[in-house]
Amino acid sequence: MGLTRTRVRVEGIVQGVGFRPFVHALAGRLGLAGLVGNDAGGVFVEVEGAAETVERFLEALAAEAPPLAVIERVTATPLAPTGAAGFAIAPSLAGGDRQTLVSPDTATCADCLRELADPADRRFRYPFINCTNCGPRFTIVRDVPYDRPATTMAGFEMCADCAREYRDPADRRFHAQPVCCPACGPSLRLLDRAGRSTGGDPLAGAAARLRDGAVVAVKGLGGYHLAADAGSEPAVAALRTRKHREDKPFAVMVADLDGARRLCEVGPAEEAMLASPRRPIVLLRRRAAGSGAAAGVATSVAPGNRSLGVMLPYTPLHQLLLEAVGRPIVLTSGNVSDEPIAYQDPEALDRLGGIADWFLVHDRPIHVRADDSVVRAFGGRELPLRRSRGFAPQPLGLPWPFPRHVLACGAELKHTFCLAKGGHAFLSHHIGDLENYETFRSFTEGVEHFRRLFDVDPRVVAHDLHPEYLSTKYALELDGVEHEGVQHHHAHVAACLADNGEAGPVIGVAFDGLGFGTDGTIWGGELLVADLEGFRRAGHLEQVPMPGGAAAIKEPWRMAAAWLDAAFGPSVPEHLPVMDRPRDRWEQVVALGRSGTAAPVTSSAGRLFDAVAAILGVRDAVNYEGQAAVELEQLADPGEAAAYPARVAPADDNLLRLGGTDLVRAVVADLLAGAPPPLIAARFHNGLAAATVAACDALREETGLGTVALSGGVFQNMLLLERTAAGLQANGIRVLTHSRVPPNDAGISLGQAAVAGARDRSRPVSADPWQGVPHQQVDDPGTTERGLQ
Ligand SMILES: [Zn+2]
Ligand SMILES: [Zn+2]
Repeated sequence: MGLTRTRVRVEGIVQGVGFRPFVHALAGRLGLAGLVGNDAGGVFVEVEGAAETVERFLEALAAEAPPLAVIERVTATPLAPTGAAGFAIAPSLAGGDRQTLVSPDTATCADCLRELADPADRRFRYPFINCTNCGPRFTIVRDVPYDRPATTMAGFEMCADCAREYRDPADRRFHAQPVCCPACGPSLRLLDRAGRSTGGDPLAGAAARLRDGAVVAVKGLGGYHLAADAGSEPAVAALRTRKHREDKPFAVMVADLDGARRLCEVGPAEEAMLASPRRPIVLLRRRAAGSGAAAGVATSVAPGNRSLGVMLPYTPLHQLLLEAVGRPIVLTSGNVSDEPIAYQDPEALDRLGGIADWFLVHDRPIHVRADDSVVRAFGGRELPLRRSRGFAPQPLGLPWPFPRHVLACGAELKHTFCLAKGGHAFLSHHIGDLENYETFRSFTEGVEHFRRLFDVDPRVVAHDLHPEYLSTKYALELDGVEHEGVQHHHAHVAACLADNGEAGPVIGVAFDGLGFGTDGTIWGGELLVADLEGFRRAGHLEQVPMPGGAAAIKEPWRMAAAWLDAAFGPSVPEHLPVMDRPRDRWEQVVALGRSGTAAPVTSSAGRLFDAVAAILGVRDAVNYEGQAAVELEQLADPGEAAAYPARVAPADDNLLRLGGTDLVRAVVADLLAGAPPPLIAARFHNGLAAATVAACDALREETGLGTVALSGGVFQNMLLLERTAAGLQANGIRVLTHSRVPPNDAGISLGQAAVAGARDRSRPVSADPWQGVPHQQVDDPGTTERGLQ
């Protein structure tokens, strides 16, 4: 049998994931000669041996790849055999066009957990244990190629034992860049508020203080958290007061799946999400109070909420801390109210000094701030609400090539940005609300970091149409690029299309808080006929003024005034309680709405939820965006099937109108008749869902389109999402929802990128769409994402 030699190139997430030792071991097992190495394009391999053995090698390469590897393409080229024996690991080659992908941070693997618990292991109880299959990645990478000097581990010189593991191709830690041990790696300290070290074991000290009711700041993977005993009402209440966070639910970390089950209902989909290497916060339905199982979590963890955000430990530090505390802890972002999470040491001590009693810190710097991701299950799939730590910067595979590199600047709230090239969209980690200098700086620095990591040089810059968004201003100040304005709700629908790897056209339903419309009004309850390239507004929720503009977002009772005025005119039933609470200002605000000054007109669905929440007495003012709508959903009785009727008909401009005033009149009638608010809230949800379904039916009739994409922040409301999707499906309509990016404004940048790419592809003078990128096989959308699950 003749010898063959084959050169193999492997692209995807193949560096820093143990690929070379895997190849080395595989070649050794099959008795093949050759070499393996990293370069800027990924991993290159040369194997020499019998033709059928080389064939087996190629099959096993994809089938048995290490858990964190995401293989996007394997190409094989024949070479002349050299007759050389043995299999070597070649030195890394620098330079060239960077195509390698940086892996997300990954939860501690089973092998490391076993060593962590083994008294005979030299990393027994070492809070920074990691290997090629797990540990910090994105948050410690400063530059590419991904090598120790380009990470925040650069300052830790490996001891002889670690260096041996690092150099041994047969070792699980071969070229694991963050490899370390108690002798050479980072260490913990427990500090008081003044920054003075306490004596004793820092972990045991922190755990004891948590059990005593203290608030402890814990430096984690992507930033500082604030921790407190989740079962202690005084501890959680103190954390709330000091953090100036009145109502927004806190997330809880439990030791394991059983711990999660003690607090919440955990189905198979939830279990998979909780235990996945991404370890997001998973929103779970709480067990009914009184079942005895709800014990262990103080009321003020998630006041009035049927759900609880739960996560499992994802670093060895969290693992050890949870074991030592022995019960669930609140683990919430280390910040004051809406500031970005603290991640740099002196700054954290300074900013969190008024909140935390103690600081559990370590000396491994965090290069990129990464908040915990938040997901929930919908229809057996993952529905992301915040896609950050554990997900970013893993690219989203898209089935269409971007002709030129794209930067999409996103919107404003829950901000993300997105870079795109080839068939990849690199959606950023969660940046936050782009309303202050610090988040804006995170955005601009993040763009530069991503450009360097993924070697993207944007020629097309996409942005929202809102002229006052900082992201729009940033985009328009960039010179020498082509600008592409993308309407906010078109971007939502495009994000949903891209999420599903589809190009449309579809009927798009985009319900959210606010977005700048093409007619200068504020949109937010939109029915679009859209594909990736363009859209036509086909209908929307009835419009009302927002009396006082931005003030109406913070004070839902103002939206109640506007909607009641629209529904009843001067003959509003006198004795509605909502009108009593701001009695001295009610008439004034109604008049402000009618005046047309300082009262921009909106078709926002989010603002209609606010109005109904205020009418039902849920709340007059909010402490965080969307709070009234969230609480209205919590109030609604999910067992109620009745729906308020709402007209759906074309107006003078031929666009469909969804009759929000009908819904408001029905709410008021039921309220005056003494119906319980949970039933009214449910009938309102059901009525809006039914009106949406009717509108989609009418648009299907008109356009022949049988698919509806549901997007926008209002579709984080599970009751509305479930009722709308079920109604559409019952009518034989295909429904697209989100599973890779959030339906809220965090998904906007992906939508903008997808629109910019589609418009670029359709340009008549478009060059070769694959120019500048290696011709790669187009992957099934979602393949790269699913690779880790
Ligand atoms: Zn590991
Ligand atoms: Zn060491």
